[in-house]
Amino acid sequence: MAIKRLIFFGILLFVVGGMDAKIKTKIIAHRGFWNTEGAAQNSIAALTKADEIEVYGSELDVWLSSDGVPMINHDPLTADHHLVLEKTPSYLLKQEKLSNGEYLPTLEEYLKKGKECKNIKLIIELKPHSSKEREDSLTAKVLAMVKELKLENKVEYISFSLNAVKELVRLNNKAEVSYLGGDLSPKELKEIGCTGLDYDLNTMMKNENWFNEAKKLGIKINVWTVNKESDMKYFIEKGADFITTNDPQLGLNLVKQE
Ligand code: MG
Repeated sequence: MAIKRLIFFGILLFVVGGMDAKIKTKIIAHRGFWNTEGAAQNSIAALTKADEIEVYGSELDVWLSSDGVPMINHDPLTADHHLVLEKTPSYLLKQEKLSNGEYLPTLEEYLKKGKECKNIKLIIELKPHSSKEREDSLTAKVLAMVKELKLENKVEYISFSLNAVKELVRLNNKAEVSYLGGDLSPKELKEIGCTGLDYDLNTMMKNENWFNEAKKLGIKINVWTVNKESDMKYFIEKGADFITTNDPQLGLNLVKQE
């Protein structure tokens, strides 16, 4: 009898688990889980805190320093001394402080910490640079570093730069690559070789037909930056694959209620 019961619950778990995987929107912490004590946007602490709350992914922004080192920062300037990321050597950038007291991380430091994290995916945004050459150089360096650290299954890529997106696809046709720009249809993205679209919430609300179009084509849908509960509910209802948010805890709570 006990065995029968075990088998029954085993099957039930399998079925429910399978249904879950199909319908559940996954949550991505925008620039890590920074909206909490001790963290800052794009800090290592924000990455480990995102991992602790068990979101699907933690997003980060990458620039190439003047001497060709991939560095993590959102804005084109550092917050501390307003140094231009692209025009400053890495030894100076590494001395810049984030608001939580951490030093501005290199991509290598960030990836190494990401490797220690249990489940989290790293959603790497390649920032648009001042020239195609610099974007191409950044793209090649990031892909090589991810490969070297054996993190290819833990990393996905996003960019507003169509050049960087095409370069990612060209150099690694197995990589998960989404375009951020919002101006191309799922069909156009499929033709380029993208695996997903990662568009702002207003664009997706205006183009509701893209949900169906993307699903038919196997293009994943990620929507940013969705912070309000009502907006999160809308996109969960629409069947978005991912929501990128500054409030990952709220996103997780809503997804768990589904
Ligand atoms: Mg970003």
